[in-house]
Amino acid sequence: MKKHNFNAGPSILPREVIEQTAQAVLDFNGSGLSLLEISHRAKDFKPVVDEAEALFKELLDIPEGYSVLFLGGGASLQFCMVPYNYLNKKAAYLNTGTWAKKAIKEAKAFGEVDVVASSAEANFNYIPKGWTVPQDVDYFHYTSNNTIFGTEIRKTPEVGNVRMICDMSSDIFSHPVEVEKYDLIYGGAQKNLAPAGVTFVVVKNDSLHKVDRVIPTMLDYQTHIDGGSMFNTPPVLPIYTALMNLRWLKAQGGVPEMARRAKERADLLYSAIEDSKIFVPTIADPEDRSYMNICFVMKEEYKELEPEFMTFATERGMVGIKGHRSVGGFRASCYNALPLESVKALVACMKEFENK
Ligand SMILES: *Cc1c(COP(=O)(O)O)cnc(C)c1O
Repeated sequence: MKKHNFNAGPSILPREVIEQTAQAVLDFNGSGLSLLEISHRAKDFKPVVDEAEALFKELLDIPEGYSVLFLGGGASLQFCMVPYNYLNKKAAYLNTGTWAKKAIKEAKAFGEVDVVASSAEANFNYIPKGWTVPQDVDYFHYTSNNTIFGTEIRKTPEVGNVRMICDMSSDIFSHPVEVEKYDLIYGGAQKNLAPAGVTFVVVKNDSLHKVDRVIPTMLDYQTHIDGGSMFNTPPVLPIYTALMNLRWLKAQGGVPEMARRAKERADLLYSAIEDSKIFVPTIADPEDRSYMNICFVMKEEYKELEPEFMTFATERGMVGIKGHRSVGGFRASCYNALPLESVKALVACMKEFENK
């Protein structure tokens, strides 16, 4: 049976990208050696990092003066690296969910944190509006896509002259980004770019060195800019897969095409949920709804059918649609590599269940 992969992360990658990775594991560039057994400084591997960085810049339309880094530690390490490198006195954070909360917790160890708004009181089922960012902060941090709760900020927030830092783990390359407004953009690659093990960082070169504290070498972004992501051994396998995926992205038409597909998938699924008699979206305002992680539950009067639908959908090849425990219900993650056919299959499955 065909599987439809709605996993939230690690998650779906294009089949050909997985095949290319498998091939390189067996024989890297016809060298007779596996990608897993060559030096990261080998003359063949350096071009992999260089091309991945160049394609990243090209596809995200990154202006001059920025570096793209491939690091270890996950997005979670960035929660601490960001304030280590940028928080002198005070930073502003928007609290839109679990990941934002974790970033806020880390920042508090380094200075004053002004939480400009939060939707915690409503279990993060909307994006707060009408907040302002104090102009005396070192930076403003937000999460563009809330993977767990299914909300997303696709438009660049209005924050005056304050520099922005954003966690784009789960919606990178799914919509255009005005990179010039950011000092730093980061994310774990395992949602929308590569397998687990690599973290991408887009950093403005001249935004660093504004804090007084001593920064441990490995946690200092400058180390990795100077080292070209090779200060220590980088995660070679996920970087290789990221490169294959970036090539795939470009061949498909780049970010504009990914944005079009994301909207097409989301429109189809959200309208099916809204038209349904038994399902309801967890995010009421269409403006706030994530195109990447589409969350829905059963209406109160049908609530007890949720486990039955899980079994029904699983039997029809749907994978990973169980909602996060903090939301319940269902979550269909529709990342860049997810074909429209998978969304159509899920919609058909929902209709079949409803008719039954
Ligand atoms: C998954 C996720 C994280 C955590 O990423 P790790 O690489 O596991 O540390 C952080 N932020 C967002 C938005 C995520 O979706």
